[in-house]
Amino acid sequence: MSSKYEALKHECFEANIALNDLGLVIYTFGNVSAVDRNNKVFAIKPSGVAYEKLRPEDMVILDYDNTIIEGTLRPSSDTKTHAFLYKNWDHIGGIAHTHATYSVAWAQAQRDIPIFGTTHADHLTADIPCASPMGDALIEGDYEHNTGIQIIDCFKERGLSPKEVEMVLLGNHGPFAWGKTAAKAVYNSKVLETVAHMAYLTLQINPSAPRLKDSLIKKHYERKHGKDAYYGQ
Ligand SMILES: [Zn+2]
Repeated sequence: MSSKYEALKHECFEANIALNDLGLVIYTFGNVSAVDRNNKVFAIKPSGVAYEKLRPEDMVILDYDNTIIEGTLRPSSDTKTHAFLYKNWDHIGGIAHTHATYSVAWAQAQRDIPIFGTTHADHLTADIPCASPMGDALIEGDYEHNTGIQIIDCFKERGLSPKEVEMVLLGNHGPFAWGKTAAKAVYNSKVLETVAHMAYLTLQINPSAPRLKDSLIKKHYERKHGKDAYYGQ
């Protein structure tokens, strides 16, 4: 049976496979979603299905209030977090969540990832924020929905823009990344994991390594993202 959401399901499926192929997933601990802003719905991976068995038609379609529009499988247990972020950040097109090792290590240590080098500055000019672990009331309430609240509150408190900082660590839990498309959210998840690994090694070699200086932060970020960007073709 054909579906009006076939392209969306395909985008979501491909992104989930890419997340796994990039080595960011342990068993089934990871999920990517893709949004269709015109129809106000998103596609997400079904819960607990092994990546090798995943098919495009298995993707579940929901609206921003978590009502299933299409699909027979149960959606990812993190679905409400994705829905809350789509509802509140109307420019994002895809979200990815993993339990990748180095990203999770920083989240468990409850530390922002300092901007140490140009790999980091190519993607964002700020330290990668680590939101505080959730309080008991949020945990005991609508946990996955409240996970979204915790992420958005962190950005509000710190005055960060989700357009400029497309990734976050949630304290004690792990990374969430987003972007204009689901593929970009996966790309950002890999960047985050790589930067987390590099920063960890940097502090091993030199525990008092300095942050990257402003001139290099500016140079690297702007040649990729500034109005006179000249990186790439
Ligand atoms: Zn998780």
